[in-house]
Order: sequence, then C-alpha cells, then structure tokens
Amino acid sequence: MKKRDFIKIGGLATGALLTGCSASTTDMSAKRTNSAKKSSAGLKLSFRPYELQLRHVFTVAANSRTTTPGILTTIEYDGVTGFGEASMPPYLGESLKSVTEFLSKVNLGQFTDPFLMEDILDYVEGIMPGNHAAKASVDIALHDLTGKLMEQPWFRLWGLNPLKTPNSSFTIGIDTAEVVKQKTLEAKAFKILKVKLGRDNDKEMIETVRSVTDVPLYADVNQGWKDKQKALEMVQWLSGRGVQFVEQPLPKEQVDDIAWLTARSPLPIMADEALQTVQDLLSMKGIYSGINVKLMKCGGMNAAYKMITMARQMGMKILVGCMTETSCAVTAAAQLSPLADWADLDGNLLISNDIYEGMTIVDGKVTLPDRPGIGIVEKKNKI
Ligand code: MG
Repeated sequence: MKKRDFIKIGGLATGALLTGCSASTTDMSAKRTNSAKKSSAGLKLSFRPYELQLRHVFTVAANSRTTTPGILTTIEYDGVTGFGEASMPPYLGESLKSVTEFLSKVNLGQFTDPFLMEDILDYVEGIMPGNHAAKASVDIALHDLTGKLMEQPWFRLWGLNPLKTPNSSFTIGIDTAEVVKQKTLEAKAFKILKVKLGRDNDKEMIETVRSVTDVPLYADVNQGWKDKQKALEMVQWLSGRGVQFVEQPLPKEQVDDIAWLTARSPLPIMADEALQTVQDLLSMKGIYSGINVKLMKCGGMNAAYKMITMARQMGMKILVGCMTETSCAVTAAAQLSPLADWADLDGNLLISNDIYEGMTIVDGKVTLPDRPGIGIVEKKNKI
C-alpha cells in the first residue's frame, strides 16, 4: 500500500470514529436539551426526618446509643427522582435541627440542568461552611438523579470495575465477652470484622473474637488510647493476632504522637475522626498511613472521589466507611469501593428500619447492584 493510500484510509477511519463520537455527543446533548426544556421549573429538593433504629445498643470508646438521627432527601427533575440521605452521629456535631436549617436554605430551583454538578455542588458548598452531612444528602441525591437520567450506575460512569470491590467488614462494638462472642458468631457471612477498642478490655475483646473466628480483623480505637508508648505496645500485640490496620488509635489532637506511632507501627495507622474534608487530607502525609473516607464527613460522592484520588497520589491507603445509615448512603459509598483497599460498609445492617434495597454482601464481598444512579430502590414493604 502506498503511503498516501494508507493516510487516506487512516483518515477515513478516524473520521468515522469522530463522527461516531460526535453523533453520540449530539444525542446526549439533545437528550439534555429536551430534558431542560421539559423542566424549566428547575430541580426540586425535598427532605424529611427519619430516625434510624439500631438493632443493638452500639458502644464505642466514648459513648453508647440506640438511635441515630437521619434525614432523607429527594431531588426531582423531569419526572425522575434521585434519593439522598444525611446521617448525624453525635460526634460530628450535626443534628436534625442543623441539617433542616441548612437544607431550608438550599434553592435548587435556580438550576435547570442537573448535569452542571460542579456548579450546583459549589453553590451548596458556598451556602455555609461545615454541614457536611447536610451537603452529602444533596450530593447523593444529585448523583442518583443524574445517573438515572444517563441510565448508568456511578461505578460505570467513573469507569470502575465492579468486580474489584473489596470485602466489607462487619463491626463488633464494645460489650461483655458473652455478647461479643454471640455477635461474632452471627457475623459468619463476613470475611473481615472490625473490632471496636479503646476501653480497658481491649485484649479481652480481641481474644474473645479470636476464640470463635480466625478471619482478619480491623481495630478501631476511636481515639480511646492516650499514651503513645502503650499504643505502640498494643499495636505490636494486635499485629500478632491477624489485625490488618488500626484506626484512630490516639486523640486526633495528638498529632506528634500519632506521627511517632505511625513511624514505628508494624500496621497501617488510619485516620478517621482526624479527617473530614479534602482540605484536611493535605496535612495527613507522614502522620497517618491512610484515611477512612465517609460521605457524611467529606460532603458526598463528588468530594469523596476527589479525596480518594488525591490520597492515592500521596501514597496513602484507602478505607471506604460509613455511619449508621440506610442502604441509600451506604450504597452511594459502595460505588467508590473499587478504588479502596478496604471497605467498612455495614451501616445499613446495623439498623432495623432500612427502607431501601441496594448494595449487598455476597460471600463477604461488597456487591454493587446493576441499577442506574446509586443503585437503590425503595423496599416494597416499607417499614
Ligand atoms: Mg472509625
């Protein structure tokens, strides 16, 4: 083949490819334009309180509780509804009152194109600082809506392989040996357990769990240890008992002690309470080995995706976690889980009044539903 003919054929092929791209872009634009015309009224945000009932009293280093306040959101556009959620565990400082006040200020009616997500989320971010759970409830509903409008789940829109999801842990709270043993036996479906530590019975907690299972463990201290030398001795002890990492061993204010511990620890030291947003992440390098990303801390899926991308660039480990939440927020977080080293997505299993169906745990592994948006549906028999 002469060089000129090759270029000609190559040019035709490239042209066809470009035409194909251009046609699909045009189709998408036409779809969006049509949608925008139909919904000149703009996006409609609604919300209502929903108290999450815990299956068991949940005890961590600092407190115990049986309920968690929550708010469920929806964003409607062109006959399609996106679902979102804010969960407010006490330690983050948001409440039914603060989330209600924040959401009352959000005027999504000014936006007639839901695909302008950066504009919309920048606007929501700028209303008031903080209020991360309230912001997450808007972000999640917007992702659900846009995914549904594009008829694709978010893991696919991000280009993530749903087969690369990690196993999820199930959390064993601090309790008597008898109850811990019982809960561990009930968690047989999980291939990893997260054990809460930070009181005076840490070794007993681990030994009790180990008396009934040999699955790998995560340890979450919830800032419960105070002394760095004792913390190091405990981490060394834990590393000989199949523990994979230790989360927030010391109070987040003890930055120098945490850096000292991380430098000597045989296990990764993960930040949870110490880190909320992408801005916090910048100060984590050299202090922690990795981060626990939760939508309610960082403000939603958009922020979490950016945070994970940046943390990877910084060479850090990633755990995707959750609060006690319905399947709405848990499944939204699960969309990001193919990017994570570990997952702790059991929040929906800790409550007795979940009104959605979404991600499931199959053979211990996070399993994403093949449905558009964040992939949830309302349960047929609502609780
Ligand atoms: Mg934690």
